[in-house]
Amino acid sequence: MSLGCKALKADGQPCRAAPLRGSDYCYMHDPAKARERRDARHRGGVNRRVAKHSAAPLKVTIETGKDVVKVLQAAINDALRLENSHARARTLGYLCDKAMRALELGEISARVEALERMLSEDEDGNGEGSDGM
Ligand SMILES: [Zn+2]
Repeated sequence: MSLGCKALKADGQPCRAAPLRGSDYCYMHDPAKARERRDARHRGGVNRRVAKHSAAPLKVTIETGKDVVKVLQAAINDALRLENSHARARTLGYLCDKAMRALELGEISARVEALERMLSEDEDGNGEGSDGM
């Protein structure tokens, strides 16, 4: 009769949770339950965790560069909540790079739109239709 789960936790300490009947491991560590755990996570555990810790909306519609920037901002905010690590630093670097690009593209397209407006105003009155593009 074992006293507790035989697995080690992520920090290397023994788990010591109550083992399942007929097993040396608790529900979280029993290799025989791996598939069941994965399915349970898939069904809702992940969504619940995201909803609890994430600033990101669970569903987005991307129509403009601003929408992309919003998603990136939410992802950056999520990453900032994580414990510091090389992986977090890499993720933040990557997301910031993408955010920069989205912001630059948004700025460029705003300038192009402004130029197009100026051009179409110039062409007003000459009788030619100028739908452009
Ligand atoms: Zn355990």
